[in-house]
This record gives sequence, C-alpha cells and structure tokens, in this order.
Amino acid sequence: MDTVLDAVLPKTAAAAGFSLTEEQLAVKKMVREFAESEIAPHVMKWDEAQIFPRDIIRKLGELGMMGVIFPEEWGGAGLSYVDYVNVVEELSRVDGSVGISVAAHNSLCTNHIYLFGTEELKRRWVVPLAEGRLIGAWGLTEAGAGSDAKGTRTTAVLDGDEWILDGSKNFITHGSVGDVAVLMAVTDRSRGTHGISAFVVDLHQKGIRAGKKENKLGLRASDTATLVMEDCRIPRASLLGAPGDGFVQAMTVLDGGRISIAALALGMAQGAFECALDYAKQREQFGRPICEFQSIQNYLADMATEIDAARLLTWRAAWMKDRGMKTTKESAMAKLFASEVSVKVANLAVQIHGGYGYTKDFKAEKFYRDVKLCTIGEGTSEIQRMVIARQLVKA
Ligand SMILES: Cc1cc2nc3c(=O)[nH]c(=O)nc-3n(C[C@H](O)[C@H](O)[C@H](O)COP(=O)(O)OP(=O)(O)OC[C@H]3O[C@@H](n4cnc5c(N)ncnc54)[C@H](O)[C@@H]3O)c2cc1C
Repeated sequence: MDTVLDAVLPKTAAAAGFSLTEEQLAVKKMVREFAESEIAPHVMKWDEAQIFPRDIIRKLGELGMMGVIFPEEWGGAGLSYVDYVNVVEELSRVDGSVGISVAAHNSLCTNHIYLFGTEELKRRWVVPLAEGRLIGAWGLTEAGAGSDAKGTRTTAVLDGDEWILDGSKNFITHGSVGDVAVLMAVTDRSRGTHGISAFVVDLHQKGIRAGKKENKLGLRASDTATLVMEDCRIPRASLLGAPGDGFVQAMTVLDGGRISIAALALGMAQGAFECALDYAKQREQFGRPICEFQSIQNYLADMATEIDAARLLTWRAAWMKDRGMKTTKESAMAKLFASEVSVKVANLAVQIHGGYGYTKDFKAEKFYRDVKLCTIGEGTSEIQRMVIARQLVKA
C-alpha cells in the first residue's frame, strides 16, 4: 500500500506543521519492506506457538532499530522520535508482537538507563542494548501494584556495597528472554512513591529468575513473564539516580513510552484497516462487492478518519519530544486515542470480514486480539484520562 507512504503521510504531516523528510520516509519504507519480507510470512506460526522471534530482534538490531532514538556514540541509530514512531507503526502494521518488543526495549529499558544512568552504567548497558546485542526489560508492575505504584512491595536494602532485592514483578515484557532489566523497588517505605528507587539488574545473575510466562489473548509472540527476586545482590552502583527518584523517573520514561504504545496501536489499526479494505473490494454479496454498500463504506470512512486523527496526535507528541518539550498530556492523549481507535478499527475489520473474520485464515482475527493490549499496557485508558485531566486542571 504505497499510497499511504507516498500520498497520505506527507499530507497529514504537512497539515500538522511538519513534514517527513526524505530520510524519514526512507527509514519508514525500509522498515515496511523488512516487516513484509522477514516478519509477515511467520506471524501466525509465532502467534500460535507463542514463539519469541529472537532472530528478528537480532536483525532489527543490525538495522539500528533496537536503538532508534539513541545517539550513535551510544550504539544507537541517532534518529528522532518521529522516526521511532514510524518504525514501531510499520512493524506493528505487520506484527504487534514485534512492535511491542521494539517499544519496550527502546523507550522503557534502554531509555531509562540512558536518561538516568551514570556514564559507567550507560557504557556497560546502553551500548549493547542500543545495538540490539542485549534485550532489555522494564519492571514497575506487581501483583498489588498495577495502576497504583504505591502498592509496590519489592524491596531493595543496602548491605555494604550491595543492594539486596526481594520481591516479584508481574507482566514484564521480555521477562523470560531479556538480558537486563530496570526494576523499581522500595528503598524507604515511609516516603510512599518517593521511597521507590530504580535499579539496573543483570537478568543472568544469581537471585533473579523468570517465573510464570503468561499465556495471552494477543501479542502472543511477545514474551510476558513474572520476574522473581530472592536475595538478589546487585552492585551499589546499579542504582539509577538518587534513592527515591525511581517513581518520578518511571513517569518521565512513560511519557516517552506512551508515544510508542500509540504507535503500536496505530500500526495495528492501519494493518487491520488495510486488510478490511482489501476484503471489502473483493467480497461480493447481492451481486456487488460489499464495499459498494453504504454501511461498509461508513465503517471504512470512520476507520480511515480515526486512524488519521490518531496518527496526527501521535506525531504531535513525537514532534514535541524531539524538541525537548514536556509531553505528559500529549503522550497520554495520543496513547488514549490511538489505543481506543485500534480496538474500534480491529472490531470493524472483523465485522467487514463477516464469518471469515472470525477465523485464523484472515489477518483481522489476530489484530482483533492483539490491539486490546494497547488500552491496558503502560497505563490503562482510565489512567490516561486521569493523567490528561490532571494536566488540564492544574494548568
Ligand atoms: C502484555 C502486557 C505487557 C506488559 N508489559 C509490562 C512491562 O513490560 N512492564 C511493566 O511494568 N508492566 C507491564 N504490563 C503491566 C501493565 O502496565 C498493567 O497491566 C497496567 O498498568 C494495569 O495494571 P493492572 O493490570 O494491575 O490493572 P489494575 O490497576 O488492577 O486495573 C484494573 C481496572 O481498574 C481500573 N482502575 C484502576 N485504578 C483506577 C482509578 N484510579 N480510576 C479509574 N479506574 C481505575 C483500570 O483502568 C482497569 O480498568 C504489561 C501488561 C500486559 C498485559
């Protein structure tokens, strides 16, 4: 569908007050071709068997896509957030599982260490992560701490030159395949969220292990697992920033992360829309292609319009991030809107396919399952509304 790349995207970009450069379009095209040739043929096999496509991650690393937003001196591709959004969108248009891997690795784990790590921690971890030689995870969520980080029970206690971590983290993307994780733990319970600190933990060391791997509704090729820490001793220098900074750091990291979840949702919505449009042109009932029926046309029109609106919100947040602007509200708006649109679009894509949309023979079924994560991960839709409203009220 080069119409999207060549015609629609430059127009919507220009309307937003910026345009994609030749280089940005070239990156987008390169990732689209990679996704079509290297990912598309295997998507259903990986989904059914819950296979994490490690080889694809390695290849994406070679293309610089595991370090899109990091400077070249730190092993990254030195590209912008707008590029990053394009990369995640194009991968997710073909497979959201690969999209979420790239998103969690880039903007959660690697970015947390890049933003708040010492020179030494960055040299040790950011370079191999950005080059895609290591896979990164990021753990805030726990059984009792989902939307509310105040429920964090994992502790970190200083013992001489070591921190000792005890507890567990739930739903961690790359929990069982990752090499390194940024983990949030309580260092001073009396200070609430301001007593939470962030640490870099080598996932191959003693005292930490992957627990239950989740058997998920969608995004089944992405790895989601529990991490269990028992007397997990890490060097004192593994602390990111100062003790008690972890929660505020995590919120800053999520401001960027939510843009990538918006891009994940956008890519899957785009993929679902394209397969629905193709199907509507081919499928005939009552002697005509179903795309000639007004109801189907209304669906297609709504889908295309809302996807465009989601793309504009996502690009705006990325554009602001590239200029060092605070994006708390805009990231949450993009994430909220794009994720709700993705759920609606994937639902309509199945509807347009009729009974065939309910089978695994057509792509719509997988999009329908995969998109749901977007209204949940990195803060649910309810929480995004709280974040947006807080910014509105305090302004
Ligand atoms: C596939 C997948 C990958 C994930 N990857 C990661 C990861 O890599 N790292 C990580 O740390 N976490 C990860 N998560 C966890 C995810 O961020 C949480 O699931 C999410 O933040 C919600 O937390 P919860 O599941 O405990 O839901 P809860 O917080 O228990 O929420 C349940 C419901 O209550 C609503 N609710 C809660 N509080 C309020 C409120 N104040 N007002 C209104 N409604 C409210 C929620 O919106 C939701 O609808 C992942 C989750 C999934 C499913």
